[in-house]
Amino acid sequence: MSITQNLIALTKSLPKNVTLVAVSKTKPVEDLMEAYRAGHRIFGENKVQEMVHKWEQMPQDINWHMIGHLQRNKVKYIAPFVALIHGVDSERLLQEIDKQAVKHQRIIPCLLQIHIAQESTKFGLSETELDALIAKAINYPNVQLRGLMGMASFTEDTAQIQKEFAVLKNIFDRVQSQLTGFDVLSMGMSGDYTLAIEQGSTMIRVGSKIFGARNY
Ligand SMILES: *Cc1c(COP(=O)(O)O)cnc(C)c1O
Repeated sequence: MSITQNLIALTKSLPKNVTLVAVSKTKPVEDLMEAYRAGHRIFGENKVQEMVHKWEQMPQDINWHMIGHLQRNKVKYIAPFVALIHGVDSERLLQEIDKQAVKHQRIIPCLLQIHIAQESTKFGLSETELDALIAKAINYPNVQLRGLMGMASFTEDTAQIQKEFAVLKNIFDRVQSQLTGFDVLSMGMSGDYTLAIEQGSTMIRVGSKIFGARNY
């Protein structure tokens, strides 16, 4: 199956309220252009330099999503154009995004990343940390908090993945009832997006199922 065929089949299978982010990290511009010609406009990258390079090479009507862990000293490179930053998990990062957004006279939409997986990683907030960060967001008016992002455990255990997505959806519903414009729940990748959608995802980040396996 070609990229175009993968994309069309996947898009057709999704409920109308679910947004597809085509995760194009490591893939060459010509692969992204095939998806673009098939009508796709939302691409996800996890490295700043790679995203900037592709943004420079490709048409201007693309929405670029930063889905990887973002270092503060690199925010300035994507601040002029990034459409959504998925992985915000500290006040220092939020502050830097706000500062760069002010510089470019724009509002940058962001998602807060919640740690839901069993694996221990440095990335993602606990629910307590989330509430503390949301309380501080008022100090950063050029950041618009649009929702939450999370990654489930890397496991074959479907029940475990469902449970983790359900936890995230619960937190999302609680916060959504308190904030206006908080409407994005980014969860689900190639291996688990159907489970994520069943649990209430509104945005999935799918790479290998569209572009094929990655060679690092
Ligand atoms: C790479 C990546 C994806 C996509 O992974 P696939 O398994 O190829 O769909 C989704 N989300 C994040 C944060 C990623 O880094």
